[in-house]
Amino acid sequence: MPDASASIPTTEEDGLGAHEALMQFLYRAPIGLVSAKLDGTVEMINPKAAQLLMPIARDLDNLFDVFAELAPELLTRAMAFEHASGPICQSLRVNVPALAGRPARVLSIDLTKLDGTSLMAVIDDTTLDSEREEQNLARQLRHAARVDTLTSLPNRTALLEQVRGVLDLEAIDDGYEFAVLYLNCDRFGQINDGFGRPVGDEVLAMVAGRLRATLRPHDCVGRSSANDTVAARVSGDEFVVLLQGLAHGADVHLVASRLLEALARPYVVGTHQLFCSASIGIVTRRHDTGDADALLQDASIAMDAAKRAGGARYVVFESSMRERAVQRGGIEVELRRAIADRQLFVVYQPVVGLRVDGVIDRMAGVEALVRWRHPTRGVVPPIEFIGVAEETGLIGRLGDFVLETACRQFVEWRRTLGDRAPRLLAVNLSRAQLVDEAFVGSVHDVLVATGMPASQLQLEVTESLAAQDEDVQQRLHDLRSFGITLALDDFGTGYSSLSSLHLLPVGTVKIDRSFVHLADTSAHHRVLIEATVRVARSLGMGTVAEGIETQAQAAVIRALGCDKGQGYLFGRPLTSEDATAWLTAGSCEVS
Ligand code: C2E
Ligand code: MG
Ligand code: MG
Repeated sequence: MPDASASIPTTEEDGLGAHEALMQFLYRAPIGLVSAKLDGTVEMINPKAAQLLMPIARDLDNLFDVFAELAPELLTRAMAFEHASGPICQSLRVNVPALAGRPARVLSIDLTKLDGTSLMAVIDDTTLDSEREEQNLARQLRHAARVDTLTSLPNRTALLEQVRGVLDLEAIDDGYEFAVLYLNCDRFGQINDGFGRPVGDEVLAMVAGRLRATLRPHDCVGRSSANDTVAARVSGDEFVVLLQGLAHGADVHLVASRLLEALARPYVVGTHQLFCSASIGIVTRRHDTGDADALLQDASIAMDAAKRAGGARYVVFESSMRERAVQRGGIEVELRRAIADRQLFVVYQPVVGLRVDGVIDRMAGVEALVRWRHPTRGVVPPIEFIGVAEETGLIGRLGDFVLETACRQFVEWRRTLGDRAPRLLAVNLSRAQLVDEAFVGSVHDVLVATGMPASQLQLEVTESLAAQDEDVQQRLHDLRSFGITLALDDFGTGYSSLSSLHLLPVGTVKIDRSFVHLADTSAHHRVLIEATVRVARSLGMGTVAEGIETQAQAAVIRALGCDKGQGYLFGRPLTSEDATAWLTAGSCEVS
């Protein structure tokens, strides 16, 4: 672009022409130009400036008067400007409201002090730029409101829009196939609790990455016939995959299997290798829900069913599941009543000593397990209500009840059975109980009130709990200072490995049933059990094998050197009366 000043003639003889040219230049400039005295008196104004300023003030005699209302800071800044010359303000934005049928506008003003007597103002109409900026901002905000920041996946809002679109398509096209897969990471809380939230976040981001990679159209392995897929993060550890326009409804099974496989691979975060399988609930088009929210709700109900069945699997929604979900919701209300009405009771499962000579020691101990005698459903197992009790804060009262009842029973056995009484009482603890500041005090009160010897009480905690934060560690320490011992329950199902066992404040390791019941058929599991027993022993810890059901399992477990066993082979969980009978029935030989 040529320099504007270069096109203005400047020689003497062209003086008049030059002046004329300059005037033309100013006159036609597509930008407002105003020359004024220091007090704002306008000396020269070009047509563009007049056009821009007329809607603001009829009288354009004084620049500061023109902007007195809309931009009073123009005068203030000019008054405060102390330099001989230079820019007083640049790109000052002035919003001109809509007036007399004219639309609202945005002006931009540059005011410059030229010398000791004059000012120059450059005025531009930036309405379009401002509108564009606003639109950009709005677009960014809309985008941010629809995207999950951690994973960059669409969020729930964006997903719901997509699902609505799909439901509209389904309404007009009878053959339109789609599926919604609702994913939840199994035992994700353990990762957060055991390794901290940043590690948890990293795992979630990796989960999102694997979803993307697995659903990518050019990834042919297990690829769906869907012509459009969306993966979204809908809350903490929950993701939804929407498969649209499936060629065959049954293809959803392929996709679900492929996703399960991809997500079950280990996650390496720093020095940790973590496992985080997923549970998936599936809703397909042959389904009767009305709106998008209800559809997601149903998919999450199916996901819950997958989780309850043990996780790492998918379950397709059926309408009967909805009733059961409502029932679960009702459990909270009923559980409150159950605690007040004493519908809960405690059963005792024998924990026996495994002696090398094959004789079992019946008095080694018992584990207290809670049950609920429901007025209409009969006896309800803990798996159906411990979770609800934890979520709703009822676990505190439930746990106090179990501890106190079991301690009373134990003391009663000591009184009535003498040396036939069990020597140890194991009681399960939930993480929610240990988070409560008052917990240690309430255990102390129960010991005092029941006369329970602390040294004969063993509290069972899970791996994630034992590795928890400092407050929880301190509480575990306080409990141990009473003389209470701690056991690590369900060892092998969580994340702490044999190499970190020495860091946990426990005296006993309970090897999970999932290992024990393969002890006699899987060499791999046998090796793991043996290693656990060896490491525990080297750390001075005892071992209990959970869930022994057959003589063959018992024989292997004993041969591997495990101290104690628990399982249906020796005794099921028994009411206090039946347990009394079992304890006094004499010793029993195991081949
Ligand atoms: P857990 O502490 O690992 O208890 C052992 C579970 O394995 C019990 O299930 C027991 O009945 C079952 N079991 C024992 N031997 C065998 C066997 O040979 N075969 C099979 N298939 N199962 C066996 P239960 O009573 O249903 O309890 C399940 C879980 O609920 C417990 O697992 C424990 O984590 C929790 N729980 C039970 N009572 C309480 C309680 O009072 N408080 C808390 N916080 N949790 C509890
Ligand atoms: Mg237990
Ligand atoms: Mg267990």
